[in-house]
Amino acid sequence: MVEEILSYNKSFVENRRKQGLDKQISSHAQKGIMIFTCMDTRLVGLVEDAMGFERGQVKVLKNAGNTLRRGGEDVLRCIALGALVMGIKEVFVVGHKDCGMRKLNAEKIRQAMRDRCIDESVIASVDLEEWAGIIPDEGENVREVVKAVKEYKFIPKDVEVHGMLMDPYSGELQVVPAE
Ligand SMILES: [Zn+2]
Repeated sequence: MVEEILSYNKSFVENRRKQGLDKQISSHAQKGIMIFTCMDTRLVGLVEDAMGFERGQVKVLKNAGNTLRRGGEDVLRCIALGALVMGIKEVFVVGHKDCGMRKLNAEKIRQAMRDRCIDESVIASVDLEEWAGIIPDEGENVREVVKAVKEYKFIPKDVEVHGMLMDPYSGELQVVPAE
């Protein structure tokens, strides 16, 4: 795969240079927006397109299920840094329907770990549902994450935080109301 990527990359870069697309742009989000969404394959590129954003306009943060596990310190840190020093004024938590983190269960993870020779004592050392960050409902998770972002002590109070759910096929968005 590495060879394939490097070979493709060579012509990709040449083309970008030819078209003058390699010019420097700001690392800050031109629209002052950060999106926190799921790493789901179906959302790659779709989230930005469906919201009308292009490269350079927004920051995008992803993990499995757009969840905050164990307080979600790492995710909240990124959002706070974005707000404090990178000009982020609005945050969109974008979950999606049919999320793998809702459909997953402890037994599936346990079996996958056994199949891949993870030590039994390691498997027994955690609550697998908690460890994986399984969510009972996509909308409810978005609502909880929005609340946690708003309440995080390092995020300035003037930052707006919105919750949305996306259809992973049509890209249709719906607002997740606060309560
Ligand atoms: Zn997902």
